[in-house]
Amino acid sequence: MNLFVTGGAGFIGTNFVRMALESGHRVLNYDALTYAGRRDNLIEFEGAAGYHFVHADICDSAYLNREMSHGFDGKPFDAIINIAAESHVDRSLNFATSFSKTNCVGVTSLLETALKNKVNTFIQVSTDEVYGSLGESGSFTLESPLRPSSPYSASKAAGDLVALSFAHSFGVDVRITRCTNNYGPYQYPEKFIPTIITHALAGKEIPVFAQGLNVRDWIFVDDHCSAILSVLEKGKTGGIYHFGGSTELTNIELLHVILGILAEKTGKEKEEYTKLIKFVTDRPGHDLRYSLDWSDSKKELGWQPQTKFQDGIRKTVGWYLDNKKWWQHLQISR
Ligand code: NAD
Repeated sequence: MNLFVTGGAGFIGTNFVRMALESGHRVLNYDALTYAGRRDNLIEFEGAAGYHFVHADICDSAYLNREMSHGFDGKPFDAIINIAAESHVDRSLNFATSFSKTNCVGVTSLLETALKNKVNTFIQVSTDEVYGSLGESGSFTLESPLRPSSPYSASKAAGDLVALSFAHSFGVDVRITRCTNNYGPYQYPEKFIPTIITHALAGKEIPVFAQGLNVRDWIFVDDHCSAILSVLEKGKTGGIYHFGGSTELTNIELLHVILGILAEKTGKEKEEYTKLIKFVTDRPGHDLRYSLDWSDSKKELGWQPQTKFQDGIRKTVGWYLDNKKWWQHLQISR
C-alpha cells in the first residue's frame, strides 16, 4: 500500500517506518522534525526503495494538500497513519498550547486534507492515557469513558473525537489505536526508561516521581508497530483497538530491573547505579495506573505481543549502550 505516515522521525514512527517498508509498503514520511524528531533516525532509510521524506508540519494545510495530492510517485495514497504528536506529559504541563495545536488541530487538518484528496483510510495512533487513571485493579475497556487528566492526554482525546466525527459525518474510514507505554530503541531521553539508562551511564541523578509507585503497562515498540499494521490490514471503520504488553510494573520495580541489567552489562556493582536514584516532587495530577483490556484486538485482529519483557528490556538497554552517540549530545531533562 501507499502510506502517508506522519511523525516517522520520532520514536514509534522510526520503528514503524522500518517495519512498514520491510512489509512491502511504500512510505511517505511526513515529519516536522521537532526536538523529538531526529534526522539521525532517518539515515537508515536514505535511498531505500519505496520511501520519501518530507520535512513539514501537519498543521500546515497547504503543504499537506500539496504532498497528498501528488500521491506516492503519482499514485494515490491508500492510508494515512498519524503518528505525529507532541508526546511528553511533563512538557504538556508547560506548553499546553503546542499540544492542542499538533494533537488536535493537526489531526483536523490531516482529516480535512484526506477528505479533499479522497484518501479514505485514516489510522489515528492514540494512547491509553485518554481514559485517565485507574485504581490498583481493573483495566479500561472500550466502554470506559474518556477522562484525560493532563493537557497531553486531553489533546489526544480531542484528536480522537475529531477523527471519529469525520467517520460519522463524512464516512471516512477512521480507525483508532490506543496503546500502553512503549519502550525500545530510539526513544528520546526525556522519557522514563531512557532517562534511567542515560543518567545511570552518565553518573547523573536518576529522578523518580514521589515514591516511584505509579504503575504502567509496558510494551516493546515493535509489538505496537505490528499492532498498527494489523489494524491497517484487518481493522474496521470506526474501530477502536486496544494494545498492551501485559507487563505492569511500578516505576521503582522497573528502575531496579534496568539498573540490574546495566550492572551486568557494564560489569559495575548495581549499588554504583542505585545510589543515583533521587525521589523528586510528584508530577502535578500524576495518574496512578493505566491498564487496557486488549482481548477484543486479539479476537478481531489475531494480534498479540511477541516480545517478552525480559528480552525487550535487555535489547533496549543494549541499544542505548551501543548508540551513545545518538543520545549523549541531547539535552537530558526532567
Ligand atoms: P515522539 O515524541 O518520539 O515523536 C513524535 C514525532 O512527531 C516526532 O518525529 C516529531 O518531529 C513529530 N511531530 C511533532 N509535531 C509535529 C507536527 N506538528 N507535524 C509533523 N510532525 C510532528 O513520540 P512517540 O513516543 O513516538 O509517540 C508517537 C505517537 O504514539 C503519539 O501520538 C503518542 O500519543 C502515541 N503513543 C505513544 C506511546 C509511548 O509510550 N511513547 C504510547 C501510546 C501511544
